[in-house]
Amino acid sequence: MPGLADDPYLRYARVREIAPVVHTSPFLGWSQLPLAELVERAVNVPTVLDNDVRALTAVQQWFGEGVGHSSFALVTVGAGIGCGLVIGDRLVTGQSGASGLVGHLQIDDRGPLCERGHRGCARAYASSPSIRRSIATTIARPELTFDDCLALAADGHPVARRVLDEAGAALGQVVATVANITGPELVVLSGESVHMYDVCAQAFHTALAAHTHWTAGPVRVAVKPFAFNEWARGAAVTALQHLLLHR
Ligand SMILES: [Zn+2]
Repeated sequence: MPGLADDPYLRYARVREIAPVVHTSPFLGWSQLPLAELVERAVNVPTVLDNDVRALTAVQQWFGEGVGHSSFALVTVGAGIGCGLVIGDRLVTGQSGASGLVGHLQIDDRGPLCERGHRGCARAYASSPSIRRSIATTIARPELTFDDCLALAADGHPVARRVLDEAGAALGQVVATVANITGPELVVLSGESVHMYDVCAQAFHTALAAHTHWTAGPVRVAVKPFAFNEWARGAAVTALQHLLLHR
């Protein structure tokens, strides 16, 4: 298609380096796994491999909250804390696909430990397993689910309230840090645990304002409800971009 590669929505993809190997996947316990080749062999379909949060960012850029913005950030909350960046119409990949690694930013050196042994990192405060574990352990109710914990906080349970306030504050600090570094027009907050925003919005915005650089204006935040098929949409957009650029 003549001129397609000059389309502003595709321009960034020319510099994307989509590796066929999963370097590290802590959630799945994979290291240096040639996943693209394995999938291709199993289903006999050309396969593109990319980071999940970057794929969600591509969806936002083409079809979501990022439409009309040349620079925005996507911050996700769930089992971990993730970040995808679009700067000057380009989806940032970083060397070897490593960019937006905000999950272990230190929030408070007296805080709880994460599974990597960091004290008080963002993930130790605001990932859904950390929130659930912190509340369930403190009040000795191991059966509680993450959503049970959110309901307790919404009802004003003092322990759940404190943990969710700390989680919201940690998330606000992460978003402020991302905004301070990249100066986005918009930060989209999403991910499978983004509904926690409903019970920690006040702490989130207080911390966001406190940590935003004094010379910058207020950070514009859009909360994007998450559905599980967003992962599939991310994969579809990633494959589509690759197909359009390599036809
Ligand atoms: Zn950590």
